[in-house]
Order: sequence, then C-alpha cells, then structure tokens
Amino acid sequence: MDAVKRYRIAVIPGDGVGKEVIPAGQRVLEAAVAGHAELAWTVLPWGSDYYRQTGAMMPPDGLEILRGFDAIYLGAVGDPPHVPDHVTLWGLLLPIRKAFDLYVNVRPIKLLPGLQGPLRNKGPEHIDMVFVRENTEGEYAGAGGRVHVGTPHEVALETAVFSRFNVERVVRYTFELARTRRKRLTSITKSNAQQHAMVFWDAVVAEVARDYPDVEVTSLLVDAAAALMVRAPERFDVAVGSNLFADILTDLGGALMGSLGLPPSANLAYNPRLPSLFEPVHGSAPDIAGRGLANPIATVWAGAMMLDHLGETEAANRIMTAIEALTAEGNVLTPDLGGTATTDQVAGRIIELL
Ligand code: ATP
Ligand code: MG
Repeated sequence: MDAVKRYRIAVIPGDGVGKEVIPAGQRVLEAAVAGHAELAWTVLPWGSDYYRQTGAMMPPDGLEILRGFDAIYLGAVGDPPHVPDHVTLWGLLLPIRKAFDLYVNVRPIKLLPGLQGPLRNKGPEHIDMVFVRENTEGEYAGAGGRVHVGTPHEVALETAVFSRFNVERVVRYTFELARTRRKRLTSITKSNAQQHAMVFWDAVVAEVARDYPDVEVTSLLVDAAAALMVRAPERFDVAVGSNLFADILTDLGGALMGSLGLPPSANLAYNPRLPSLFEPVHGSAPDIAGRGLANPIATVWAGAMMLDHLGETEAANRIMTAIEALTAEGNVLTPDLGGTATTDQVAGRIIELL
C-alpha cells in the first residue's frame, strides 16, 4: 500500500472575510483528500489584528517560518480605514511574493455553469480564459519616492521595473500554458504611451514567440483589452500582462464571472523548493465581513489549485467538478450570486457533491 502523503501547509486567514472563507476552504480540501493524503495545517494569526498588537503584520522571522512549508493558503489582508492598505499589503503579501520569488500569478476567469454574468449574450462557452500576471516587479516594484513633501513643489515617483530575466520567464510560462489550452496568447501592454518598458515587453514577447510557432500571438493595449473582454471575451484564451494591468483586468474578469467571490489565484514560486501561495483574487471585503455572507468558491478553487500544484490532481479535479455541480444546480449560493446560503452552507454542499 502507498504511504499516505503528508503536506505541510501554512494557513494565513488574514483579515475580514479571509477568516470565514479559509476555514470553509480547509473543510472542503480535507474532505477531498480524505483517506489518501494528509494536510498538516499550521494556522498563522497574522494580519491587521496582529499589526494592532505588535506594530507589524507578521513577526520579524515570518518569512523564515513560511520557508519551511510546502504551500501557503491565504485569505486576504486589509482592514481599511483602520490600517492603511499600503501598510497591510507591504507588511505581508508583497514581501512574501518577493521573498519566495512567486513570479507568476495565475488567475482563471471562467463563467461557471448555471451562472449568469452581466453579459447577457455570453455563456460559459464564451468566457473561459486564464490570466498570467507578472507578480514580483513592474508597477509594484516599490521603486520610487517623494521629494519636497507637503510643499506645492512635491513630486511623487512610482517607477515601474521590468527586467529581461523576469519578463522572459513570465512570458515563457504563459506560452507553455497556452500549449495546454487553445494555443492563443494575448499580450497586454501600453506600448504606445509607455515607450520604454512596454516596448521592451513587446520585444521580449516577440523573441520568446519564436520558440512557440504553434501559438497564435495577439498584442493589445490595455484599454482596448478591457473593452474587448466585455465585447468579445471569447477572443481570450491565455493572457499575460504586467502586475498592475493584469490586476485590474482580473477584477474585470471576476465581474464577468458574476462575482468577485469566484476567481482564485495561484502565486507560483520559480524555485519549486520554495512555497507557492494560493489565495482568492478578492480582498478582505470589510463591507460584508463577519456575517457569513462571503462566497467561499474563490478560496475553495484556490485550494484546488494548491492541491493540483502539490500533485493531488485527482482531488483537485473532483473539487472543480463539485463546484460546477453546485453552480449548475444553483440552489445553495451566497447572496452575491443571488442566493441566501451562508459561507458554511456552500462549503457543506460542495463537500456533499464531492
Ligand atoms: P483588495 O484591495 O484587497 O483587492 P478591494 O478593495 O478590491 O480589496 P474586495 O475586498 O475585493 O475589495 O471587495 C470588493 C467587492 O467585492 C466588495 O463589495 C465585496 O463585498 C465583494 N466581495 C469580495 N469578496 C467577496 C466574496 N468572497 N463574496 C462575496 N462578495 C465579495
Ligand atoms: Mg482589489
């Protein structure tokens, strides 16, 4: 008999609805692997409460603690207006992405069966794409500063950084992904107005494309891409964009799916020995937190991506089939999807459908 595989997973529920959707996700994952793998969870109470007590979002050796895990399962961080959003982000999530070199952020955008997005004439056959977001530099590199602070002459700089090594590996990841799907890649830039970095990005895409003659490449300006996602989402198969552009377009993607409570994301480590991080695309949703209203699907789906990444592909596929069965039957849904069920009831129904 095969030994039961054991995975060490760091869990950071974080703030707001993160504290509700993560336990729901853990329940579903436990049920999916029951009997053939063990998920050894370590819950880390980091986030805005921790910040209020200690002045930091995580302990000084937080990154060292995380390094030893097989994966990280994260809810959301953010507690506006009590803690400024840039403090929560730069105190936890962005340092983790940089420390473990989580170079790509993979975000599937897919209309689930039975759900009606805001585009009345588009069904699940029209909305099925995967975004690859550059995840460690670009507009979120943290380069910049402020001079003449508080004076009429104040200037603030936020310098986008694009290195050849990084753009190339992100683009290559996307071409490989395109090969597993419909072999169409859309690269999103703003190379008409941003004449340095975005022109460089286009050049790197053209170079890497030579290794993938079987993949059809389209380049779009980000503004045109936003319009096209609404007008003709079926044109998208896999798309690659900078940290900022892909962040914005995937929230649009979540809206096309019918709720921000649906899209998941996988932050993948370039070095397979470092932990990758899995989280919903959405944030801490303070407007609905603490009331059992949060949709757990994004977090459950992110958990399925984590199991797939760990090699538990069969369990991951069963979770996806159960999520699709849940939306297709359509009677146990949270309020964002027009239902009346709670976070825990949705998780419970997914487990039944497994
Ligand atoms: P962040 O800056 O962390 O991305 P945000 O300010 O973009 O956060 P979110 O927290 O993602 O905001 O919330 C945006 C909207 O989507 C809110 O109205 C929120 O209630 C809704 N929302 C987010 N997550 C969920 C969820 N799991 N279920 C239902 N609604 C959600
Ligand atoms: Mg957001």
